Amino acid sequence: MTSPTFTRIVHDRPYLDGILRTWLLRGDRCAIQTTFAHVSVPLVFGTKLKWEGVIAGYHSQTPQSPGEQPHTNDCPYVEGNVCHFEGTEARAADLVAEWVAANHDDAVIWDAAEREYQRLFVEPIDFQEWMIREVGDLGGDIV
Ligand SMILES: [Zn+2]
Repeated sequence: MTSPTFTRIVHDRPYLDGILRTWLLRGDRCAIQTTFAHVSVPLVFGTKLKWEGVIAGYHSQTPQSPGEQPHTNDCPYVEGNVCHFEGTEARAADLVAEWVAANHDDAVIWDAAEREYQRLFVEPIDFQEWMIREVGDLGGDIV
């Protein structure tokens, strides 16, 4: 199994009274995005800054399901800029809880992003290789 080469990017930008932080794991097939917000939440007295999940998902050059339309032709995250995106707030909420519990260790985010990349973009190829190897050994044909 060949493991993909990744570029890891973290960037912050101003958002409400805090920041929006995005972690981007870029491979040659797609980019996995994780975005959290660090914003004020109300307390009984005053407010405090808290991390919240915003979105976690992927940007892909190729559709991941039949008939999927690109969400934009101007995506900065994929080669060629035509992008199919899917992401959820629920996944970001799970990740932010894990990340806060791990003392904001970014390894939590990168590991989850690599697993997601592997699951979406690598395993189907490996499965095909596995089939060729297994069926090939039995002298069968791939149709
Ligand atoms: Zn995109």
